[in-house]
Amino acid sequence: MGFKIGAAIITEQREMRKEFLKSVRIPVMKKVGFIYDDVFLRHETPRWHPECKERLIAIIDTLKSSEIWDKLIHIKPRKAEFNEIEAVHKHEYIERIKKTEPGYIDPDTYLSENSLEAALYAAGAVIEAIDRCKNKEIERAFCAIRPPGHHAEAGKAMGFCIFNNVAVGARYAQKRGYKKIFIIDFDVHHGNGTQHMFDEDDSVFYFSTHEYPHYPGTGSNSERGKDKGEGYTYNVPLNSGSGNKDYLHIYQDMLPDIVRRFTPDIIIVSAGYDIRTEDHLSGIRVSDEGIRGIVKSILSCAAVPVIFALEGGYDLQALGKSVLLTIKEMLA
Ligand SMILES: [Zn+2]
Repeated sequence: MGFKIGAAIITEQREMRKEFLKSVRIPVMKKVGFIYDDVFLRHETPRWHPECKERLIAIIDTLKSSEIWDKLIHIKPRKAEFNEIEAVHKHEYIERIKKTEPGYIDPDTYLSENSLEAALYAAGAVIEAIDRCKNKEIERAFCAIRPPGHHAEAGKAMGFCIFNNVAVGARYAQKRGYKKIFIIDFDVHHGNGTQHMFDEDDSVFYFSTHEYPHYPGTGSNSERGKDKGEGYTYNVPLNSGSGNKDYLHIYQDMLPDIVRRFTPDIIIVSAGYDIRTEDHLSGIRVSDEGIRGIVKSILSCAAVPVIFALEGGYDLQALGKSVLLTIKEMLA
């Protein structure tokens, strides 16, 4: 009799404990991959060129001196295959890049001896991130890469970009079974290359906020996609001087609905930190608070893998700090 009562009490206590544990939300850190290789430092640009290897050095130094370095899953990129690049770029363009001698290939874009190698690894980093997400090794990834990609058109290099890393990644993701891709581009410049590559495509949504009018000149809100892709491009041009408030309105009040309506299988972000107040390449004035808010909103839009690929960001200190803030949000 006494034993039965004792057993009943133990069972009851066990049940209470289970209920209690269910009610306490134990924070579980997200599995975040950090994709980087020193090969990106071998893409050389002339002295005083804003898109310099010191950008990545600043990011690595900032992350290493923070508590998050050891919380990341460190991953080496693989090299993209030429056929994977050809999913978005013209064959003749790739062949031309292969044969080009070091020098400027566009008024802003410099090709050095090892730039082709670095560019293949930059696109390969996004590919690697997709593979790791697919294998469930990670849930989110940050690709610390250069050269950047979003200005590169199908047949030409442009604005520091050789291959369009995010676009190559989007097509690769589809090959791996992620059917619907949502690209978010918060770089201060409009991602003309990415938009044009998916203009007529209803399986890849392109959403961009950018200073306007500004380089490269595209990105008005009347550009909404063409034919089958009409309605799958969404541009939010912003005046010089726009800041945190404007960005938080767009990212918190507008973006989530657009993403939810599209129901993507994966989100790829063109992460350009030239929106920072400190950055001299724009008149947009976003601070720490803005970066945190933008990233938090992106991450809360959908329960799907999210891959960030570095685009711009030319103030070294602001860049390092912004990437740190981004990754802190990604881990939460
Ligand atoms: Zn930019």
